[in-house]
Amino acid sequence: MRIGIGYDVHKLVEGRPLILGGVEIPFSKGLLGHSDADVLVHAVMDALLGACALGDIGHHFPDSDQRYKGISSLKLLAHVQELIKAQGYKLGNLDSIIVAQRPKLKPYLEEMRLNIAQVLNADPNNISIKATTTEHLGFEGREEGISAQAVVCLINI
Ligand code: MG
Repeated sequence: MRIGIGYDVHKLVEGRPLILGGVEIPFSKGLLGHSDADVLVHAVMDALLGACALGDIGHHFPDSDQRYKGISSLKLLAHVQELIKAQGYKLGNLDSIIVAQRPKLKPYLEEMRLNIAQVLNADPNNISIKATTTEHLGFEGREEGISAQAVVCLINI
């Protein structure tokens, strides 16, 4: 059994779509990044890679590489899934938190969960995605950015 942790932050800007857990969410701003800037999926990937001591997503998918420009982070997650499988592990369970003042994310959490479960070939019951605000405190509270944290437990295949 292996445990991993992931954390990521992206800046909120106008003129970008807001994509979280592979779901495009209607909002006046979106996250800035080289890929689709899906901060939740990035935190999940870092947790999975961390559990296998395989480095981080910056190492596997450098933002200087044009192949990853605008790419769906779910495609990157599929690659990470292959890496952990090659190490002899699969997802035991995942818990995660998206920290955003706005928009309200509850209506979208189930679709995010199903997206991630499908890519990881996992039972949705082993995937938890939560959302919280920071009561207007900090960069998330000022709506300057969104952060996400994830913890995974991997089990032997
Ligand atoms: Mg990121």
